Amino acid sequence: MSLMMSVSGVRGIIGDSMTPELAAALGAAFGTHLRGGSVVLGMDSRPSGEMVASAVKAGLLSAGCHVIELGLATTPGTALMVTELGARGGIVITASHNPIIWNGIKFLTAAGRAPSAQTAEQIFAIHRDQRIRHEEVERVGRSERDLSTCDRHVARVVRVVDAAAIRRRQLKVVLDSVNGAGGASGRTLLEKLGCKVFHMNAEPTGQFAHTPEPTAENLVSLCEAVKANAADIGFAQDPDADRLAVVDNMGRYIGEEFTLALAAKFVLARTPGPVAANLSTSRMVDDIAAAAGGGCVVHRTAVGEANVADAIAAHKCVIGGEGNGGVIDPRVVLVRDSLGSMGLVLGLLAEDWRPLSAIVDEMPHYVMVKQKYELSREQIKVWMQRVRLDAHGGRLSDVDGLRIDWPEGWVHVRPSNTEPIARVISEAADEATATALARRVADLR
Ligand code: MG
Repeated sequence: MSLMMSVSGVRGIIGDSMTPELAAALGAAFGTHLRGGSVVLGMDSRPSGEMVASAVKAGLLSAGCHVIELGLATTPGTALMVTELGARGGIVITASHNPIIWNGIKFLTAAGRAPSAQTAEQIFAIHRDQRIRHEEVERVGRSERDLSTCDRHVARVVRVVDAAAIRRRQLKVVLDSVNGAGGASGRTLLEKLGCKVFHMNAEPTGQFAHTPEPTAENLVSLCEAVKANAADIGFAQDPDADRLAVVDNMGRYIGEEFTLALAAKFVLARTPGPVAANLSTSRMVDDIAAAAGGGCVVHRTAVGEANVADAIAAHKCVIGGEGNGGVIDPRVVLVRDSLGSMGLVLGLLAEDWRPLSAIVDEMPHYVMVKQKYELSREQIKVWMQRVRLDAHGGRLSDVDGLRIDWPEGWVHVRPSNTEPIARVISEAADEATATALARRVADLR
């Protein structure tokens, strides 16, 4: 079955599981959950966006919501508009980095962030138990359009960086927007920061120029473009522009783990404070926090954007994020944000003046090994008990699966919420140690 319903929203295949009937029902379920009020509605650049958004809109109106249509918008842009407009919630029509045949529905709370697992379940339960409330004629909602998302988003990012310092650096930047939703706002931001922009895959057609996940194998052309244009840096957004990958001035893909590390390095040097990161995120962020001095503790959370946002709010973190290029600067918006991330990384370059490759080379380097194992839930449970018993000498966290930290590295074992698999991630200073740590845990199956 191609329909996925989880805390990060609903995703399905167009012409199959993602139908207008489902989209309208989920829109109405969300509207019922909110008990009316205004809802901000944005969509990424997929060709199916209009179809899904129209159906979601109909459902919201039927449940008595006032719909503020943003048109083409990123996930962070839509989240930011929820708070800018004081709306009761938001919905983004996107399947993030999934291929073009997919589309999805992502809910946002009044705080402009991903809902908790509990809130997501309440919305799904209204749909599942057919408790949707369709209002009578006087209470059916109306809609309006608001096209200010890009300007407001760019303005918020410019406010949190030293724009004048970045402009003085006159950086050359290659931006790969993968024909997604982030092209216009990404380019506007870079130009506002005085960058010379070489923009690849800039048209928001949803015809993704390469496999949209911003991983090394999909960004070969970006790396080449950075070299060919002698650029200072390359950035890759995913289709809904919440994730950001970075390429250095040598044309090296430096990995999504570095996005949070570089952003944290910049933020902590100016405003020291606590950091939030999920358990699968690199130790680099701990090293950066330790180097920044007093007060910069790292709060580790369960995997999932909402958990990071919770920790940011609970511990008043100055920055947070995940190792998949998803950085949250709470001064901009409480979801992962490629625009905010670009601003912070450019801020670091403006402050340091050395090429990015030099900054990256002096940062701590680790190797991550990722594996997955197909096992039944019962087998995973037994395995986890053995892992727990084997953790002696290490620091154990059971916030989400099990993570064990030893001085030489760490391992995180985590059962998938949706599939009968468990993932093992390990990290150490070299590949042999990382592999050995992963094997030590995998051998306990
Ligand atoms: Mg995304």
